[in-house]
Amino acid sequence: THFGFETVSEAEKAKRVYKVFENVAQKYDVMNDAMSLGIHRLWKDVLLHVMHPQPGARLLDVAGGTGDIAVRFLDYVRYQLERQKRRDTPSGQGSSWQDISDDRRRESSAVVCDINKEMLKMGKQKADRMGVVSGLSWVVGDAEELPFDDDQFDIYTIAFGIRNVTRMDQALQEALRVLKPGGRFMCLEFSKVTNPVLARLYDAYSFQVIPVLGEVIAGDWKSYQYLVESIRKFPNQQEFKGMMEDAGFYCVQHHDLTGGVVALHSGFKL
Ligand code: SAM
Repeated sequence: THFGFETVSEAEKAKRVYKVFENVAQKYDVMNDAMSLGIHRLWKDVLLHVMHPQPGARLLDVAGGTGDIAVRFLDYVRYQLERQKRRDTPSGQGSSWQDISDDRRRESSAVVCDINKEMLKMGKQKADRMGVVSGLSWVVGDAEELPFDDDQFDIYTIAFGIRNVTRMDQALQEALRVLKPGGRFMCLEFSKVTNPVLARLYDAYSFQVIPVLGEVIAGDWKSYQYLVESIRKFPNQQEFKGMMEDAGFYCVQHHDLTGGVVALHSGFKL
């Protein structure tokens, strides 16, 4: 398999990926903002917008790192619940026992699962600071062998995570297994820029600016060089769509974001 542009054994890749995220965990969020000029926030917002989850939905966010997707998800469903309540309750009426038990039934939950303890630790601290606690849990686990029973989740997300996984086909099988029938798989990942001018600029930025930012902000050139190389090694939009279909997902679609710098893939378990 590949670790960036190097060919390495599967065990070696997993070990090195672990080390990369252990090294960058403390600076992960700051670096994300710096490298993407804050645009990763918009990509994550688009994911939620397309997902449009309803109160009561259960989310599993794999390779969830510091929890950005899970926190956005809980914010989104709570906002939906408030809107629905305001629509359903005539003004002036307080909440009744019926409302409270309805709320319980419609309560959503999000599980952040990541192989790296350091990333989860940073995420937990961030969520505590933001005051997002209820409905959120953190689980150490490998995307290739998820520690969950079959048919558990309505939505499975993996954002900027799948290219780090050694056996992607195995991770896709696991996603299918833990989703409920009718559940949705959604993946955000760096992809292929199609416009040649943008592709040139993007290449120059990735190879010349990102490792320098990594060195200056996080004191770690190598980890960020790996990130850039791993992006180039990742299958393009069509190839990844094919992998999802081979795994058994239906209605597979993809949208390009920022000219294909990122692609959002989605598919259903039937
Ligand atoms: N999803 C987060 C986000 O969008 O900010 C974090 C993405 S970060 C670039 C990639 C994450 O994948 C890291 O936290 C890393 O530990 C995790 N990861 C790598 N290999 C994994 C595996 N086999 N199973 C689960 N997580 C993995």
